[in-house]
Amino acid sequence: MVLAELGSRLKKALSSVSDEVILDEKAIKSMINDISVGLMESDVNVMLVGKMKKNIESQIDINNLPKGINKRNHVKQIVFEELCKLVDPGVKPYQMQKRREPNVVMFVGLQGSGKTTTCTKYAMYYARKGWRVALVCADTFRAGAFDQLKQNATKANIPFYGSYTESDPVKLAREGVKQFTDERFEIIIVDTSGRHKQEENLFEEMEQVSKAVNPNDVVFVMDSSIGQAAQDQAAAFKSRVSVGSVIVTKLDGHAKGGGALSAVAATSSPITFIGTGEQFDEFEEFDARGFVGRLLGMGHIPQLLKKAQEVMNIDKQKQTLENLKEGKYTVRDMREHFQMIMNMGPLTQLMSYIPGADKLMGKGAEQESSAQMKLIDDHHGLDER
Ligand code: GDP
Repeated sequence: MVLAELGSRLKKALSSVSDEVILDEKAIKSMINDISVGLMESDVNVMLVGKMKKNIESQIDINNLPKGINKRNHVKQIVFEELCKLVDPGVKPYQMQKRREPNVVMFVGLQGSGKTTTCTKYAMYYARKGWRVALVCADTFRAGAFDQLKQNATKANIPFYGSYTESDPVKLAREGVKQFTDERFEIIIVDTSGRHKQEENLFEEMEQVSKAVNPNDVVFVMDSSIGQAAQDQAAAFKSRVSVGSVIVTKLDGHAKGGGALSAVAATSSPITFIGTGEQFDEFEEFDARGFVGRLLGMGHIPQLLKKAQEVMNIDKQKQTLENLKEGKYTVRDMREHFQMIMNMGPLTQLMSYIPGADKLMGKGAEQESSAQMKLIDDHHGLDER
């Protein structure tokens, strides 16, 4: 689970609401303080935290609650909603359209932010859902950029376009998009060059590529380790191209990711996905309510069901249910179930969708369980061959 430290701090603060014998003003104040300190330690901007604190205080009048209301749940609900507001800009991102013309999505961001890796993760995410997806490398600035995209795309089985010799990113982007449009691809992802810092050359090139391919969505990729500086960076990119969504990467490695997420939200940009590792499946849809729910250990059942539906073969499951009724459950059935669970993503991610599951599993237990499932799967695969 990303931002685990912040999560345990928030959970602890909220559980004090359940554990206090008498829930009075003093207990509420101390809970709000604990939450505020946790958020600031996760690098959330002091002003944003101050605003959230005021909002919570103004809604909780513990001595004058309407009769019949469960005080503890009421308090928790208010805190939950206010935490959601911190990471939810309330703006809807671009939705992929099924139509004759392709959905062209242009990726922008600084060098090293994880842009190329994220392009592949994004392509795989939609390819798994059945879309015909292709990748175009229009990064001619960084030596080896095309090789990296080619390697990633090959590994992920995604068609790609690029060149070792062409140095004009605008020409490459235009030609790549044209080729894949002619080939009737539904989603064409254009990876553009980055620079070490925000500079005029980068922005000019971005504008030209954008004019050439006329994207339906511009995705800004940002490294979470920059924390609160995310606000300036996101604003700078937004001022030059029409950024429609943001992907925040490397949330696995940073206790300060809360700062980046809330800073991006403060620029009214919707965060659509987060990167949670170097592997292509370490990539999660971002939904503010679900994210905060998981952070607080409340899980997110709708997301779990959605993931299950994506990998489940319904006809096969009906057959398995029939077999189970007759007391039949073979090793083959078990292997199929293990494979299905593994296809849903890393086990650590799955467990966080189940309310309270974090309390059931000890630290490191998830990795151990994943490894054991994989071992059983590999062994059985060998036996069958
Ligand atoms: P680009 O220069 O923006 O295209 O960045 P790359 O895609 O080359 O990524 C830079 C480094 O960040 C690579 O080593 C990636 O494996 C790594 N990376 C990308 N996304 C993530 C993430 O979500 N978590 C972690 N831990 N590493 C990531």
